[in-house]
Amino acid sequence: MKSLWNEDEAAKCRDDLDLRVYSSRLLGLNKSLVLHGGGNTSVKIKQKNILGEEEALLYIKGSGWDLATIERAGFAPVRLDHLIQLAALPELSDPQMVNELKTHMTDAAAPTPSIETILHAILPYKFVDHTHADTIVAITNTPGGLKHIKEIYGDELVIIPYVMPGFDLARVCAEEFKKQGNEQTTGMVLMNHGLFSFAESAKESYERMIKLVTRAEDYLKNKNAWNLEIPKTKVDSVSLLNNLAILRADVSQAAGSPVILQTQRDENTLAFANRKDVSVISQQGPATPDHVIRTKRIPMLGRNVEKYIRGYKKYFQQHSKKSKLPMTMLDPAPRIILDSDFGLCTAGRSARDAGINNELYLHTMDIIQRSTKLESFQALPPQDIFDVEYWDLEQAKLRKGGKPPMFTGEVALVTGAASGIGKACVEALLSRGAAVVGVDINPVIETIHERVDYRGFVCDVTNEQTLTEVLEQTVLAYGGLDMLILNAGIFPGGTTIAEIDMLEWRKVLEINLTSGLQLMHLAYPLLKLAPNNGRVVIIGSKNVAAPGPGASAYSASKAALNQLMRIAALEWGADGIRINSLHPDAVFDTGIWTPEVIAARASSYGMTVDEYKQRNVMKVEIKSSDVAALAAEMCGPLFAKTTAAQLPVDGGDVRVI
Ligand code: ZN
Repeated sequence: MKSLWNEDEAAKCRDDLDLRVYSSRLLGLNKSLVLHGGGNTSVKIKQKNILGEEEALLYIKGSGWDLATIERAGFAPVRLDHLIQLAALPELSDPQMVNELKTHMTDAAAPTPSIETILHAILPYKFVDHTHADTIVAITNTPGGLKHIKEIYGDELVIIPYVMPGFDLARVCAEEFKKQGNEQTTGMVLMNHGLFSFAESAKESYERMIKLVTRAEDYLKNKNAWNLEIPKTKVDSVSLLNNLAILRADVSQAAGSPVILQTQRDENTLAFANRKDVSVISQQGPATPDHVIRTKRIPMLGRNVEKYIRGYKKYFQQHSKKSKLPMTMLDPAPRIILDSDFGLCTAGRSARDAGINNELYLHTMDIIQRSTKLESFQALPPQDIFDVEYWDLEQAKLRKGGKPPMFTGEVALVTGAASGIGKACVEALLSRGAAVVGVDINPVIETIHERVDYRGFVCDVTNEQTLTEVLEQTVLAYGGLDMLILNAGIFPGGTTIAEIDMLEWRKVLEINLTSGLQLMHLAYPLLKLAPNNGRVVIIGSKNVAAPGPGASAYSASKAALNQLMRIAALEWGADGIRINSLHPDAVFDTGIWTPEVIAARASSYGMTVDEYKQRNVMKVEIKSSDVAALAAEMCGPLFAKTTAAQLPVDGGDVRVI
């Protein structure tokens, strides 16, 4: 492992807290050291308080911050003397501990200090770094873990047997540090958990971490347990579309709400899922206990969700007995799924959560395989993992639990999504918590949003093959499809029937009408499997009810699409799928309408631009975002019992009324 320390960067740091931020980020950049909120760092600083008295403070990573992106504000300043006094108490419950940490901060706006705060406080070094290094957990999660660690580090490190994070761990560390620590001590190994390094400078503490991990890597290399050969796996081709959507529907049902299911089907994941010993090595437990909060204790093998639920209930009953307080069982849905055909599937309440689980398990696969090559992978006993999964603080969070956005865990697809109404629909759905797939012929579709809950595909909607591929990518990325917004359409310049170009007529019908039918046809099996029922919204036009001369192809195509909507409502109602139309008019903030075009049209009617934009009975301007908000809401609970409805969004059109 290489040190990323850069003297020029470090020289820009103004003070010790800046240096703490800098080296914490270096740790965070290395995913084999810490993943997603894992690990924590601190620095001890003397500061004058408002009374002019000097105080020793521990700046410790706050919960909710990630080391890779942490800032000064991510560190909570806690009075060090008080923490050291707390460490001497015979016992302290988690809620009491959290209370003490929060009431002894010197900044009321600081985040909640890490659960490992007291542990950082008792270590007599200015800088303390803590990671869950893959290599360390690979070595300590083996039957001979302790022996291996001693072979690597001799008595240079303080070795702590596994204790659940929190007050007890801090107390044990304080005792062991007194017993085992000496002048040569550069770090501390927490069995089955991770590694600490410390020093008087940020650089030395960071580089000690890198060196300690490198020695563990070298040890694995010497034992031929570092390089992982990936065998070629022969897998029959499977129909991903339906089978993955069925799996997502089952997992969603177990979770009690829709989930995003991300699938990674490559040589690596397929090889792991097809290992002969997968049912043993994957069922031992997580690599480090704090993964359990996200991943659950063990992955599901194959697709039998019922069986997994039975196993989870048994695990809960068995291990909750020890608790004095009544416990609420978390949802029993699997988060990690290993399937011989799919490879690795990860479930999460959002695309971000599913992505984090994917990353956690990719690292776990390597850890398990290295442990297996070294000796065998032996995780902590289920009771220890259960205690972390169900500890007071997590249960308290669960009881609080705010209301998630409306479409959390759901997946939407919008056509013609690179501009105008389609683009606004993507934004409306994202802001309501959905994962969204945008398709458009314009390549900007791929980069409009750079976020895990958005995928953009360049797609000619009239090409069946491309549409099928887009649906397949959607299902691989998110697990299914719940909402479909048919918006793609073109509006050719006005031509009368007398002058119409038949080629153009066919093109308009192909894009505005036939592609819509094609996508409805292809998406139907997925919509049918949507956990909260499928929903389709057709972006129609005022022209359906009030056509004008010179727009025959456009008006006829939109009217026919509207008729398709009515037929689909009849055909799909029994499947719970609802489909409705919106009829916008005079939406000018789209690609077609440049300021020059609007000005020209306005003057041809003898109107000002504002008058022209507001030529409806309410005298209001209709924006893309107005149409999009209504489209999104029509997919929501307010319209749960409405299908085949047609709603104008036009400020009131005299002819339609
Ligand atoms: Zn830790």
